[in-house]
Amino acid sequence: MINIAIDGPSGAGKSTLAKALAKELGYIHTDTGALYRTVGLAVRRAGISPDDKEAVIALLPSVRISLRYEADGQKIYLDGEDVGALIRTNEISSYASKVSAIPEVRAFLLELQRGIARENNVIMDGRDIGTVILPDAEVKFFITVSDEERARRRHRELAARGESLSLEEVRRTMAERDKSDSTREIAPAVPAPDAVFLDNTGDFTETVSRALAIIRSKTERHE
Ligand code: C5P
Repeated sequence: MINIAIDGPSGAGKSTLAKALAKELGYIHTDTGALYRTVGLAVRRAGISPDDKEAVIALLPSVRISLRYEADGQKIYLDGEDVGALIRTNEISSYASKVSAIPEVRAFLLELQRGIARENNVIMDGRDIGTVILPDAEVKFFITVSDEERARRRHRELAARGESLSLEEVRRTMAERDKSDSTREIAPAVPAPDAVFLDNTGDFTETVSRALAIIRSKTERHE
């Protein structure tokens, strides 16, 4: 199986890029952020503070997450309920970021991610895919985008979902999340030593073409 890792900060367009590449290559696209968001949602629903590590850890055995891949992409379920839309709020973003710093939460989601990669040609996006989850991935990308553009994109995305945060507020919560994601002790969001840096600030079609050319050159020997 061919595994492609896409890491980078929030709002860099990892999922959009991964989706476009998966479609082009006929691979599945696994959005691993959705897994941490769903744990965040379960924690929120249980009325637990995401800062209460012991309580979050105690909840894990009852958290049942499943993924399904359909023509229009990944579907995620919590206890059989499709939570794909519910996990996209700004509140759940910060729950996700907080619970993702708990080693037991990462361990809880590890095998699910590796299992998908063992059984499928996959483009997997997240923060630690190239460093921890799939260290042997055939291709690893680290996506960058200017901070200003990232905040603008995220602001637009939230507005489209009916969340009216100011651009300044979006910028602030993104910076907080980036800081904790990249400085945490476990699986910090840093590039793998063998990652290819890809700037996604400019034209998206151009980014897709550049990524495809890199993937094709690195995977030719497998085909
Ligand atoms: O990618 P997304 O913004 O949906 O991820 C939500 C949060 O989940 C991130 O802020 C990060 O803290 C966490 N995450 C992670 N490792 C991943 C994917 C996401 O820690 N592989």
